[in-house]
Amino acid sequence: MRAALLYGPQDLRVEEIPDPGPHDPARIVVEVEAATTCGTDVKMWRHGHRVLPPYPCAFGHEMAGIRADTGERVLVSDSVACGACPTCRAGRSQICRRPTWILGGFAERIAAPEAALHRIPDGLPAAAAAMAEPLAAAVHAVDRGSEARDVGILGGGPMGLMLAALLIGRGRSVTLADPHAERRAQAAQLGADTAAGLSRHELVFEAVGRPEAWQAAVAAAAPGGVVVLVGGCPSGSEVTLDAGPLHYDELDLRGAFHHAPAEVDRALAALADVVVPWEMLLGPTISLGQLPAALAAREGPAKKWVIDPRLQE
Ligand SMILES: [Zn+2]
Ligand SMILES: [Zn+2]
Repeated sequence: MRAALLYGPQDLRVEEIPDPGPHDPARIVVEVEAATTCGTDVKMWRHGHRVLPPYPCAFGHEMAGIRADTGERVLVSDSVACGACPTCRAGRSQICRRPTWILGGFAERIAAPEAALHRIPDGLPAAAAAMAEPLAAAVHAVDRGSEARDVGILGGGPMGLMLAALLIGRGRSVTLADPHAERRAQAAQLGADTAAGLSRHELVFEAVGRPEAWQAAVAAAAPGGVVVLVGGCPSGSEVTLDAGPLHYDELDLRGAFHHAPAEVDRALAALADVVVPWEMLLGPTISLGQLPAALAAREGPAKKWVIDPRLQE
């Protein structure tokens, strides 16, 4: 089958590789219909990533397709928790200490444990279903927040816009800040107020993933507020925070990482019900061969490329 393999930073090649299955009885083969790109893919392509196996490796972690054994349409989640470690036993499988990562959506087929497969609601296209992976993380992040009505979101990429859509769907008043006018226009279309920066909100979501943004998110919280850090800064990143408000303003600073299986199903339902208008986030559909150029593309409006591995160049 054809697959996009990473050979090293910024070295992506489309090659013919052995079919993934059904050699392993513990895994089910899924014919990929659509895989969407995200900021994590761009990071993996540019610099590598701690969850990548040794090079050359397959990647792509937002993928949907058809089960080869039953013909059922499924979203393939990008991880399965171990179920046995202390965090899993505490009911927090999204921060499992020994997860199995399932990467390789940028290929014609992928083999995944059955626990990673989620049925796609009828009528939801594969490209929209693939977005359930990041959306499940947004669902989880919203749960990590508070019930405050006044919400600020820092960052208008796909994650920031998904958070905005979910929160507006729950009747919250959302202000989204992003330096890009195109992204502010997308947020306004969802019904959010927009700004170049945030000031004093009861609940603040950081959806950028840079130390400066973490700092700005804490500075944007109102006294007694809650700050949820959704964008990842790699371990070892140095973040300079004004610590005073954590004490004197009793700020709650919380991380939100990844998602649990039930959140993937909630995300699929939110896509099917168009709580999140997924068409806004869909970019062009391209072939595997066009993927390197797509990953290198400059930022514009928040759009995800859709890779259809069945397309020839
Ligand atoms: Zn992603
Ligand atoms: Zn675990």
